[in-house]
Amino acid sequence: MSSAKGKTLLNPKNDQTVDSLLRPAAWNDYVGQEKVKRNLKIILEAAKKRQEVCDHLLFYGQAGLGKTTLAHLVAKELGANFKVTSGPALEKMGDLAAVLSNLESGDLLFIDEVHRLNRLIEEVLYPAMETRKLHLVVGKGPGARTLTLDLPPFTLVAATTRINLLSGPLRSRFGATLKLDYYEVKDIEAILKRSGELLGLKVDPAAIKLIANASRFTPRVANRLLKRVRDYAEVHDLKLVDESAAKNTLELLEIDELGLEPHDRRLLEAIIKKFNGGPVGVATLSAALNEDKGNVEDVYEPYLMSIGFLSRTPSGRMATRAAYEHLGLKPPEGTLI
Ligand code: ADP
Repeated sequence: MSSAKGKTLLNPKNDQTVDSLLRPAAWNDYVGQEKVKRNLKIILEAAKKRQEVCDHLLFYGQAGLGKTTLAHLVAKELGANFKVTSGPALEKMGDLAAVLSNLESGDLLFIDEVHRLNRLIEEVLYPAMETRKLHLVVGKGPGARTLTLDLPPFTLVAATTRINLLSGPLRSRFGATLKLDYYEVKDIEAILKRSGELLGLKVDPAAIKLIANASRFTPRVANRLLKRVRDYAEVHDLKLVDESAAKNTLELLEIDELGLEPHDRRLLEAIIKKFNGGPVGVATLSAALNEDKGNVEDVYEPYLMSIGFLSRTPSGRMATRAAYEHLGLKPPEGTLI
């Protein structure tokens, strides 16, 4: 199953080592998202030509679509150090002050999950982004005073899965906002092929197709499925990952051929069986599923909508005819979408 080269790569201590191995380190390996890449290249080229620090950038789109990878590529292109933090990690003013005051000239600061920054922290970020000033309040009460520090030129790259939760003032401080979309199946197939090669796996094209179709058009999901298929092949001593290995792995994981997982089916079944197909409000639906509303909106629904199984109407969520059919249920008479 593995070449000599593959064998060394196949001994990672954990999934994370594999993840960093699979993360594209060059633009050529970053498949798809052509519009985003085209836009970025112009912005980066112009900044380099002017020998100026690049504008702050905001990437948004579903988890696993390649925002962090893109930020790494931007840093590489600019020859910048990559410094990373996240919205939830910046709880107190001092957390952000520590990150900002450690920046060196030309650094790229990546803030993941930027929608989770609290408003007070955002207000420290604004002047840092705009005029490279860090205003710190020292002391408390009437004796408190503001200390202003100059920051070196830096580029902030922020990522979010929920652009609508970002405040207007924060959004407006980015020089460019770029949206990452779900990938085309052919792109996911190319990603899987490359990942298979990096892992020293021989994967049948039919297996690649099957995994790609179940990947929710998302590179991270595709790579995760490939890793599980690789486990299956390892345990069964397979020299070639064939269609049946891929199929059996997906079955074990309870993932169907369209990538639906048990929670997706539970959501659709709840709309269909408990709420007569909808419309049902997302709060009621989440309560019925005992799931966090944000999770339902951010993680489950976008994919179900993208494959046409769920529709968001002004009066609530509705299961579509395709969803009924996929679950083997009879759609009601009438005007289902
Ligand atoms: P996000 O930050 O949007 O959650 P990541 O950048 O962490 O997503 O991407 C998850 C993984 O998917 C990466 O480690 C990489 O292996 C793979 N990946 C993402 N985008 C691409 C791409 N365009 N081409 C190839 N692999 C990709």
